[in-house]
Amino acid sequence: MSAQLQSCGVPAPAAVVSHYIDGRIVPSAGARRVAVFNPALGRPVREVAMADKADVDAAVRSAQAAQPAWGRTTALQRARVLFRFKELLLQHTKGLARTLSEEHGKTLADAEGELTRGMEVVEFACGAPQLLKGEFSDSVGTGVDSFGIRQPLGVVAGITPFNFPAMVPMWMFPVALACGNAFILKPSERDPSVSLMLAELLKQAGLPDGVFNVVQGDKAAVDAILEHPGIAAVSFVGSTPIARYIQSEGIRHGKRVQALGGAKNHAVVMPDADLDAATEAIIGAAYGSAGERCMAISIAVAVGEATAEALVARLHKRVGALKVGAGDAPGADMGPLVNGAARERVRGYIDDGVKEGATLVVDGRGVRVPGCDDGFFVGPTLFDHVRPNMRIYREEIFGPVLGVVRAPDYAAALKLVNSHEFANGTAVFTSSGAVAHAFTRDVEVGMVGVNVPIPVPMAFHSFGGWRHSLFGDHHMHGPEGVRFYTRLKTVTQRWPEPDAVRADFVMPTMK
Ligand code: NAD
Repeated sequence: MSAQLQSCGVPAPAAVVSHYIDGRIVPSAGARRVAVFNPALGRPVREVAMADKADVDAAVRSAQAAQPAWGRTTALQRARVLFRFKELLLQHTKGLARTLSEEHGKTLADAEGELTRGMEVVEFACGAPQLLKGEFSDSVGTGVDSFGIRQPLGVVAGITPFNFPAMVPMWMFPVALACGNAFILKPSERDPSVSLMLAELLKQAGLPDGVFNVVQGDKAAVDAILEHPGIAAVSFVGSTPIARYIQSEGIRHGKRVQALGGAKNHAVVMPDADLDAATEAIIGAAYGSAGERCMAISIAVAVGEATAEALVARLHKRVGALKVGAGDAPGADMGPLVNGAARERVRGYIDDGVKEGATLVVDGRGVRVPGCDDGFFVGPTLFDHVRPNMRIYREEIFGPVLGVVRAPDYAAALKLVNSHEFANGTAVFTSSGAVAHAFTRDVEVGMVGVNVPIPVPMAFHSFGGWRHSLFGDHHMHGPEGVRFYTRLKTVTQRWPEPDAVRADFVMPTMK
């Protein structure tokens, strides 16, 4: 057990967060470090080491040494490790949530919710024997059977964003490990500590050293991963420009890639919707986690002027009553943004929205949180009369800013959703089965909710968007995750009678 574990077994963050290679925390090859902040206080709490090529290479060599034996264990044995991991995650949820909230800023309850969604993927991956069951065709020819087996890729890597430091890595590695791969995680440098806790808990669960390694860092570590010939596949979640880069560079280096990008999720509110319920749903989805969710609702499309007036009045009332505070403050609805740059970016978008002529109904720029004067807070912000040509409509703000767009009818609302660059999630609020049916068929978005504001698929389905919200062919976890982390081998076999073997000089066909 590492020296960085507290006596109760919960790994405690170190002063310098470093890499986890071969079952232990190791120092960085280079000297480069960056500060990790507590965003509620606005000050650094520790540092994180930045990996260079040598660190990534050490992680790959360790993973390459460990993977063949792990890949040969039975799926049932691998599942047993994941079962124990799940139990440990449950045992340590509070400690994990505390560190996660400290570095990210989200509320403790939200951090626990994130961990729960991650654990659900672990539970899904515990079904490894079932998930990896192949297909079999009896008697494809006389005395000939054919079957497919899914085999691990070898060493695979995951590069993850700051906004879900536990859940997004857990979209990836439980499935990759269940399939028999070794996994290298490159977490966000902004909230790196949880990754080491997960590594330590995997070790405690019985995962052999080297099967799960962590390299901390930024672009240098990412480029080393993309270029490394020992890594077969890369899973990425983050912003669209980087997702596009990961896909093109990964493919250029011969890797399988799935790269999930940014979002601008629309909620269409129909005149027949239950407006009180829709308001509650949209408030939670827009401002939860300070809007730093790829499935946050950032645009509400009100269909018809009367719907818009009634919706904006309700939103206005609710937004004004939201409580902003540190992640561990009792009763806080939302915390700070992750860092000072994010706060300035979001404030800049609010300035732009005003300049471009949207109506600022609630302004979060001047929010004050007692005891957290230097924290990176922006209060919940509401715009009305947002139009499609405005920057606050076109671009991902990734903060607590909700814009209301007024559409004359359903067709115009649908066209808006289908024309946006991003197509991660969307929702329709309606009491009409016909509208719900039409919307789910006609909308061109990867994840769709009907009266559900954040339609994040459960672990046994797959998560992913369309258009510039996903580059690659595979969504994450669920059946697509299993396909991504395995390759198919198809075997055709004959067990001939001893005297039935004769040379055949024509192209084999099934007789
Ligand atoms: P980001 O793109 O800045 O960073 C993601 C990862 O890429 C991090 O590990 C980071 O170290 C690395 N990275 C950053 N710049 C890089 C560069 N120039 N070259 C190579 N690697 C680089 O994203 P973020 O700010 O951490 O996260 C927020 C973004 O992630 C938002 O756009 C959000 O929508 C998106 N996101 C998408 C999903 C999804 O499922 N589609 C889920 C969560 C977050």
